[in-house]
Amino acid sequence: MAARKNQVFSGAGAEVAGHTQNQAFSAMPVNNILRDDFSYEVAVERIPLPSGGLVYPKNHPLHNVEALDIKAMTAREEDILLSRALSKQGTTMSALISACLVDKRVDPKTLISGDRLAIILGIRITGYGSLYKSDVSCQSCQISTRNDFDIGQLDVKPLEIAPAGDENLFEFVLPMTNKRVLFKFLTGQDEEDNTALIERKQKLFPNAPEGVVTTRLESHIVSIDGISDKSKISKFVSAMPAGDSRALRTYIEKHEPGVNLEVSWQCPHCSFDNKNALPMGSLFFWAD
Ligand SMILES: [Zn+2]
Repeated sequence: MAARKNQVFSGAGAEVAGHTQNQAFSAMPVNNILRDDFSYEVAVERIPLPSGGLVYPKNHPLHNVEALDIKAMTAREEDILLSRALSKQGTTMSALISACLVDKRVDPKTLISGDRLAIILGIRITGYGSLYKSDVSCQSCQISTRNDFDIGQLDVKPLEIAPAGDENLFEFVLPMTNKRVLFKFLTGQDEEDNTALIERKQKLFPNAPEGVVTTRLESHIVSIDGISDKSKISKFVSAMPAGDSRALRTYIEKHEPGVNLEVSWQCPHCSFDNKNALPMGSLFFWAD
């Protein structure tokens, strides 16, 4: 296990070593029953943060922190995965991350989605290994086959644009209206709020379009030409030229830090070379 430290994902391990390390990771209890009586210690792994901690404000425990420690998944975390109550609330992943983070000051809902993804993949690797068998359909012959994927081979996609300040704020000038937008990358909390908002809208107006694009865009946008009033932003977003909307969405997607989930595999039936996003269904956390 120790040899794999810093190499949970390829392409990120080397740069992480020796950089800012969180100093609060020494909270092992003095009386450790597992260690003292069973000679067993739960393994801890270091996970690179795609954001490099650059999106977190000064008072956040992960401000400028490039990697954090997680403890390996145990039977207790399997309880979380199987909890129906958590699944109903849509908070299973936050609870899982929270249980596995060594630094308990970190609230998983404050983490941006890409960092959460890196942690979730890391938890999967420490719990069940990096081999992941999943059914995928061939894009050419449509036949579904079981494939072996190596989660450890996925590449971290680091943050490459500079924040417009010392936190989660980035600038983009809309190509058609020339307006200056400040946007943020969504956190776990933002994602949960979005899902709830879309569900509420659907209940109120069952025949209206779901508004997934505008709702997401609205939660990304912090201000337009200095105006940060949410209802004004909402009005602008629903009336903005499609070219502006698409350019902004493309820019956000291209630069969002996270883990590149694209995998390639050859179809055993027709030899077609497939490229698709790693399927992360409900069986992702089960070994085979
Ligand atoms: Zn095929």
